[in-house]
Amino acid sequence: MSMQADRPGEGAILSVEDLTVVFDGFKAVDGLSLSVARDELRVIIGPNGAGKTTLLDMICGKTRPTSGRVMFQGRDLSRMAEHQIVRAGVGRKFQTPSVYEDLTVLENFEISLPREYGVMRSLRFRRTAAVRERIAAMAQQVFLAERLAEKAGRLSHGQKQWLEIGMLLMQEPRLLLLDEPVAGMSPREREQTAELLARIARGKSMVVIEHDMDFVKRIAHKVTVLHQGRLLSEGTVHEVQADPRVRDVYLGH
Ligand code: ADP
Ligand code: MG
Repeated sequence: MSMQADRPGEGAILSVEDLTVVFDGFKAVDGLSLSVARDELRVIIGPNGAGKTTLLDMICGKTRPTSGRVMFQGRDLSRMAEHQIVRAGVGRKFQTPSVYEDLTVLENFEISLPREYGVMRSLRFRRTAAVRERIAAMAQQVFLAERLAEKAGRLSHGQKQWLEIGMLLMQEPRLLLLDEPVAGMSPREREQTAELLARIARGKSMVVIEHDMDFVKRIAHKVTVLHQGRLLSEGTVHEVQADPRVRDVYLGH
């Protein structure tokens, strides 16, 4: 097993340790180790079926590993329930946007307010000035300031992705996991999303799965390449692009 150049575990917010999951005898993730530093934006790339989504599923508790651990701030996420992992500060966005289409953008943001607002909700939730301000600031961040009164179902696909990212950010996660956030977006929306992710990456760690290399270049601090459930290469965008093993895998597909 290869060790990373930087001290493993130290300064890391997330350490995936020798993680394996077997589905019907098939190893979707196979002895994978990697660590993500505080305030780092890590991008994970790799051909279809490489195990990228399965890795995120194991970090957020959706899938249980067969063996190995997922350490986050000293706790093993692979032993925790999904809601506990959310509460521990991990936010996960799936590939397809899941927003409440029949509710307005404003209402979607309200629903995503963290627990401490739950008390107010049960006493007939009122939009206090603080809540309004918080939502307005978030809507501004994710380019939806002018759409607050609109039903989420009327947003473009890209705007729904932004809304969902904003809803996750309302919970102030320490670690944000995004699975192909720019899939189905226009070039202009991709540019705005790159800007958004670079902005929100300050003060939190992010793991983003993405294929679009122009987009990856704009956001990645470091890139991990997966292939057949294993770590194929890791480094800066330039380093992994220059790696002949990475070239082989992509040319072979
Ligand atoms: P990626 O996101 O890199 O495209 P996935 O993590 O979705 O890849 O899938 C990795 C492999 O694991 C694929 O071959 C997929 O068919 C398989 N797989 C994923 N989830 C399951 C599951 N729940 N049961 C069986 N096989 C699965
Ligand atoms: Mg996937």
